[in-house]
Amino acid sequence: MAYYQNTGLPTAASMVVTPAMSDVSQEDPSEGFGPSKLGVRTTVDEPLSASQAIEVLQAGNRRFVQGDVKAGGLGPDMRRALASHGQRPVATVIGCADSRCPVEQLFDARPGDLFVLRNAGNTCTHAEGSMVGSVEYSVAILETKMILVLGHTGCGAIMGATKLFLERSTQKYIEMTCRKDAQESTDQSTEASESEQPPQPGCCKKKSTLLGLLDALVPVAEQACVELEGGSTEEIAAHAVKVNVWRTINFLLSYSLIIREKVASGEVELQGAVYNMSSGAVEFLGKSPKQEKLLNHDGHVVPSMGGLARQVS
Ligand SMILES: [Zn+2]
Repeated sequence: MAYYQNTGLPTAASMVVTPAMSDVSQEDPSEGFGPSKLGVRTTVDEPLSASQAIEVLQAGNRRFVQGDVKAGGLGPDMRRALASHGQRPVATVIGCADSRCPVEQLFDARPGDLFVLRNAGNTCTHAEGSMVGSVEYSVAILETKMILVLGHTGCGAIMGATKLFLERSTQKYIEMTCRKDAQESTDQSTEASESEQPPQPGCCKKKSTLLGLLDALVPVAEQACVELEGGSTEEIAAHAVKVNVWRTINFLLSYSLIIREKVASGEVELQGAVYNMSSGAVEFLGKSPKQEKLLNHDGHVVPSMGGLARQVS
């Protein structure tokens, strides 16, 4: 708690306005996204447990798949309730920025229901401080008990990283073959080969931030390729989507003391999922296979936020 007070972020207490008694008499757990006393979820509602949150997410996705969505527009009373009584989302979701994967819609959620973080590839590889810090805010202040990392089929970021990985693998193979041929050649005029440096894989004079993002996802594609023992670009990219979900979860467990402690105590759960863009269904993957191992890890402050965190503490 003290950590956030020091950062100047609003605390739950500063956002709560005590509701009038008449306000809390409208509980209607059958509609919308979990129980809400004011028609939308606010701080007058209790946090949901991780298991309750998963049930609500699964039910919302079923409604989305069946075309039976209930999350409509917000009336003036609901907007005022959200503005006056603060937020109490049922879960934190880290999703991809892909415009075809709108997290709130595919879980049939309304404003106030979900605390959503999105970027290309649902990753913590870059700007990791803002991602990890935002998740810490959601679990420590907003009291969400479920953190869901949500990948999706046909992810362009993962496909880009897979192609980059395969191009580099091919480049390395060609370079190795060329070197071997040169050494075995009877022509020993090695002047050229010694004076010319081979091109570095991925080397580009006009590097972009996007290339940096894909570059950081290349290990995901590499791990997927190893686990599959080869495969087509599409097969590797499809498997890499799941590998990337685990990687993001493992990053959060590795670099956040707050998350690690809450997961270790059983207060918070960190789970993975993959959204199938064709069917609309979300496949829930459960906990990371490495969770127990990582809970015993000492952990570190994320590299991009190390200086600030040291100042605050
Ligand atoms: Zn994506």
